[in-house]
Amino acid sequence: MRNRIRSADALGDWLVPTKDESEGIRGTEGVFQWSITPYYASLMDPNDPSCPVRRQVVPLDDELAPDFVGVADPLEEVAHSPVKNLIHNYRDRVAFCVTSQCAIYCRYCLRKRMVGEAEFMMRKDELRDAIAYIADHPEIRDVLLTGGDPLTLGDANIDWLLTELRAIEHVDIVRIGSRMPVKLPQRITPELCAILEKHHPVWVNTHFNHPKELTPEAGAAIDRLLRAGVPVGNQTVLLKGINDSPDVMRELCEGLVRMRIRPYYLYQAQLIGGTAHLRTSIETGMHIMRELQGHLTGFAIPKYVLDTPFGKIPLTRDYIVGRDGDRVLMKSTRGANWAEPNPRPARSSLLDVDADAWPELDEVVCPPGTQTISMETGQLAVL
Ligand SMILES: *Cc1c(COP(=O)(O)O)cnc(C)c1O
Ligand code: SF4
Repeated sequence: MRNRIRSADALGDWLVPTKDESEGIRGTEGVFQWSITPYYASLMDPNDPSCPVRRQVVPLDDELAPDFVGVADPLEEVAHSPVKNLIHNYRDRVAFCVTSQCAIYCRYCLRKRMVGEAEFMMRKDELRDAIAYIADHPEIRDVLLTGGDPLTLGDANIDWLLTELRAIEHVDIVRIGSRMPVKLPQRITPELCAILEKHHPVWVNTHFNHPKELTPEAGAAIDRLLRAGVPVGNQTVLLKGINDSPDVMRELCEGLVRMRIRPYYLYQAQLIGGTAHLRTSIETGMHIMRELQGHLTGFAIPKYVLDTPFGKIPLTRDYIVGRDGDRVLMKSTRGANWAEPNPRPARSSLLDVDADAWPELDEVVCPPGTQTISMETGQLAVL
């Protein structure tokens, strides 16, 4: 963690940045967090600017391009937070953002405007407030620790948190969402595993996006978790030019189950300012899923979903009504209609519908505060 790369100079030890990368590093300073662990940097191809590892962590000037959305909080997580950093959007489970820190800052991050920021940090009394809320709500049986990355916390703090949560009788399972096995597998120490083992049932969901990340070091970290009795799942974000092809996704899923990791979700990339260049059409994701279904071990296939303020929506024909130009219309699992801004693929889209033929269109909800954003001189400005 101490040796992380945080400047163009330090990155120069690993590769010669392209012009787009140099401008990205300069332009995003003070706007978006940036750091890379030496381990993850060692997976980058210095000779290939399109390297899928490099593209996840080295900023590009594309991040500063005008984007048609710029909301800091696309899922209305703050509105769903009864106490700071505790998101209660499903009756029986909560997402608890225990820290704002990460070891690396992924360029596409859903909480890109929050991670690493001081106001998103949690003091001990704020953690206690969130734990008290969970204790007061007997319907909560599943607590998802997220952030930031919960495993940036020290062992003693993790032990304390898990002890507090375990003391609440109605909390059945605790799960930890962490990218540490991918970006700093050395963090999965025997000591950490021994702590997790004390507080079972504890599940871990990690976040591999590309087969290049499935290294022997990562495999050893996963093995340590599994030997401590922690089931490990994986969430992948669908990213343009990084993993948006059936071949890459198949290789990733096959590699994950070889490491005994269960692919769980494939996320449509969220609408968050500065990530337009990494978002794909939903048709691309559906095409990938069609190529996996029936051609891959059943449990190696993740579920393709979009997160919305109405919860996650499976991106299948059951929920998708069709495409109206630059929006994909769908029904949430709670009955509400949702219109997701999404670039129409270059070729004609099979999802195209006539918007007039969809009677409930008036009641469609768009992402909160959808607006055009221009980022100039390091400032976000609404156009
Ligand atoms: C994704 C998510 C969860 C967990 O949902 P599962 O579908 O059970 O994995 C819980 N809370 C929030 C706010 C979420 O976004
Ligand atoms: S590890 Fe997760 S929370 Fe942290 S920057 Fe990456 S995607 Fe965001």
